[in-house]
Amino acid sequence: MSFPKLVVGNWKMHGSSVALMGLAELARSERPACDAALCVPYPLLSTAQSVLRATTLRWGAQDCSAHAGGAHTGEVSAELIARFGARYVIVGHHERRAGHAESDSVVVEKVRRVLAAGMTPIVCVGETAGERDDNETHSILRQQLLQLVRHFGRGLSAVIIVYQPVWTIGCGEAATPGLIDDTRAFIVHTLGYHAGLPAGSVRILYGGSVDRRNAGAILSRAGVDGVLVGAASLRPDDFIDICRAAARSANEGELAPLSG
Ligand code: PEP
Repeated sequence: MSFPKLVVGNWKMHGSSVALMGLAELARSERPACDAALCVPYPLLSTAQSVLRATTLRWGAQDCSAHAGGAHTGEVSAELIARFGARYVIVGHHERRAGHAESDSVVVEKVRRVLAAGMTPIVCVGETAGERDDNETHSILRQQLLQLVRHFGRGLSAVIIVYQPVWTIGCGEAATPGLIDDTRAFIVHTLGYHAGLPAGSVRILYGGSVDRRNAGAILSRAGVDGVLVGAASLRPDDFIDICRAAARSANEGELAPLSG
């Protein structure tokens, strides 16, 4: 089984209603032929709901509370996010894990809340530069994934995993295709071995310095089900170009001659 390619924009703490309207306008005329979504800051969810619903783009948030509800000043529950028609919530982004001391068990709670609210969690996993240099990439990924496996088991097929090496975030240089292939294979193996999930049953994206120049090469790797895009998603033409690359690579996959 293979999934349609998915392009997810992570606007972080950027963007505005005007920028959303501009992108919606472009998306209305271009009609990207892939699955695509924008994860916007909370105050833009309402605008996203009203302007993106007329396009093929979906929308979502970049985080949510680990609590279902209650007295938690400043937090936003998954249930509240869902009321804005959101389809996705990014969980466990490095900027949350590192900047807000978010542990793997907090990530698990957030995933639970997102699923309970009927949305799809997009869970980021990946190693830092130091961990990469110490050859710890696989052990870090195993640790991050096993927490999820322990709590959700085969239910992880409802979750999207993003391999996002921390050292590629915002630096303008994506991981090499070889590393992306290797790590993806490791994630597939871990989910298969520990959760009994067959290869191809979980959508696995790549994230980290994806732009209009490298998107085609990354998206055309077998088994890369899509990309998480930060900085480039703030440039409407670039975001639509990346969506075009996703649509092209899906078509190439369909047209590719069967080997053997
Ligand atoms: C991100 O931080 O989610 C991301 C994908 O960033 P960038 O594309 O800017 O590296």
